[in-house]
Amino acid sequence: MQLQLPSKHDGFWQHVRRGTPNQCWPWVARFNHDGYGQFSERVRRGPKGQRTIRASRRAYELTHGKIPLGKEVMHDCDNPACCNPAHLLLGTHRDNILDAVRKGRHRVGGQRLTREDAVTIRDLCMRGSAQKDVARMFGIARSTVSHIVAYRRHPYGRHLCDAVAARLKQSQPSPAGVS
Ligand SMILES: [Zn+2]
Repeated sequence: MQLQLPSKHDGFWQHVRRGTPNQCWPWVARFNHDGYGQFSERVRRGPKGQRTIRASRRAYELTHGKIPLGKEVMHDCDNPACCNPAHLLLGTHRDNILDAVRKGRHRVGGQRLTREDAVTIRDLCMRGSAQKDVARMFGIARSTVSHIVAYRRHPYGRHLCDAVAARLKQSQPSPAGVS
């Protein structure tokens, strides 16, 4: 029997519910335990010719081109099932972790660090608190604090910086017990 490589585009996009250019385009086939779509394709004949990759990676490759070594596909919409190429961006693993911190998905010591926490952490450090002290207040690693503080160098950090700036402008007192 002749094995056929699936047509690059049809084999993939038939599993994506495509909407308008701005909507999320959810993957509607198989998912892994993290909620990311899984796409399997036959890359060569034989029992080991199948490879499975994240659907969002494949969506990125099909529309934006090859993913450079060491880069990850990030979701601007924070929806792991989404395959809308307009919602997919490249970043490093570190960017991805920082993005998760900013969006409150990152779990530290079993606790979720919210976006508001991240704003407060940056706020405190900008006002001169030592990173190790801030880390202790929140029960998180000092490296997490420095990640959050360093985040402004990344384009994603803009939102966070805006939030900090807005807060400083309001001159709200620091949360009780952390000033
Ligand atoms: Zn999306």
